[in-house]
Amino acid sequence: MSFKKPVFNFGRVAVTILLVSCQREQVTGVDVPRKAPPMAHRDLSGGSFPIPIQATNAEATGGGEIGFIPTGIILPANSRYVLSVSGTVQVSAASVPCEFNSFGYVGEYGPNGINDGGFHQLEVSVALQGPLSTSIVTHPTNKGTPGPTSIYTDTLSSFGGGEILVARGGIAGGTNCGQAGVSYPAYNLSSSQIVSVVLTYVPPPPPMTIGASTRYAGVGDTVSYGAGVAPPGGSLSISRWRWVPDTGYSAPPGAIEKLSDAQCGTQTACNHTPLVPGTMWVIGAVNGNPDSASVHVNVVPCATPIATRDTILDHPLVRKLLRQAWDSSHYTDPITSNRRERGGYVWRLPDGTYQVNIYTASGDTPCTTAMTPPSPFPGVPIAAFHVHPFKHLEILPSNCPIQNRNPALSYGYDALKYGGPSGDDFGRLKGDNDYFNSLIGAPPFQGYVMDDKNIYRFPPTTTTSNWKTNVVTYPRNDAVHGCVRP
Ligand SMILES: [Zn+2]
Repeated sequence: MSFKKPVFNFGRVAVTILLVSCQREQVTGVDVPRKAPPMAHRDLSGGSFPIPIQATNAEATGGGEIGFIPTGIILPANSRYVLSVSGTVQVSAASVPCEFNSFGYVGEYGPNGINDGGFHQLEVSVALQGPLSTSIVTHPTNKGTPGPTSIYTDTLSSFGGGEILVARGGIAGGTNCGQAGVSYPAYNLSSSQIVSVVLTYVPPPPPMTIGASTRYAGVGDTVSYGAGVAPPGGSLSISRWRWVPDTGYSAPPGAIEKLSDAQCGTQTACNHTPLVPGTMWVIGAVNGNPDSASVHVNVVPCATPIATRDTILDHPLVRKLLRQAWDSSHYTDPITSNRRERGGYVWRLPDGTYQVNIYTASGDTPCTTAMTPPSPFPGVPIAAFHVHPFKHLEILPSNCPIQNRNPALSYGYDALKYGGPSGDDFGRLKGDNDYFNSLIGAPPFQGYVMDDKNIYRFPPTTTTSNWKTNVVTYPRNDAVHGCVRP
């Protein structure tokens, strides 16, 4: 409070009774932390792929060769897997009417192919095509072991991730049957060969992240969001953006969402103009793994100026509890002795959310409030607030302690001196700061005082020497912006 008449030093009394147990009722608001959706499912199934075969070993097909082709089997980066190639190629004599055919390779061959004096015909090769390169990751190592039971297996790691490619060599044996310029295939080919991958370890995908240019926006402010991957390096794809307004809020009349989430499409950045608090979701995939990320943005009507945004005063809970403090002060009661100063603290909880409490006590008066928090404290105090339920120059009632000082004088509320709050208000704030600092090491916090016209703020930088000029004033009925706070 501030007074037109002699300064009285009563605000400080509250500090000294902070530890005194007294009857009180609490009005509390609690920030509800929002949970992220469950982690995307990690597919450990791998996959399999039948390796195609040419009908014959015609020269034009490289003897029936199959060059590297994609299998559709995708390996996440840093995964481990068991690679197998199983099944055989059947080589039978082609029905070419030619006496020179010897059909020496008729038979059935496994993935290692035919050991033909250093040539491994029909040998299967596997490669990994990563984001930057294609590398041969394996050949069968037990070369030259033909037979229908042959199977190749290896346990491997995929550092960069990518897609499995597979190839098979051809088999020589074309003939021209003694005719110049003609070539007949010697063999017909068929195959049951399959390349298969069983993933044995898939690391968690890098999570998708989302950042916001501000967590505290005014109605219609443009908030810029960006999607990313942490740690960096994953391949990010966005399928859509989705803005989910908090329930229980409605936009101010006439407020329009100028930029909607829908126009952001599959971009990795999005600009949006929220009207109420809510959560922006970005949905997509990292390295092909479905994922999403979200960030909550507080939106309050009549936000403080964006250049000097006061994120505490703009917090919806603080606004809500300021309104409750004001509404419970009986500020319209013509019997001014019925009015009550109300106040409390904004606490930061260990999980980063806010809790706001109004602490009332039976000994509160129209001009004083004890604001005694319970012990232990709910969190770390980051702001104190109280209301002055008076108009400028309104005469203070007799149950305001100051009236005892000199009953011959009549004291009035002064909302102009020192920009609103009084020396008593600063004294109380400083006392609170010192008190919480001595008990729990809380850093200096800021104070708010609200009367019927304005919200006054003592920034945390307020000191004994600058408090008279350091006050920031926010009009409750903001004619410039056409809005009302709190
Ligand atoms: Zn005060």
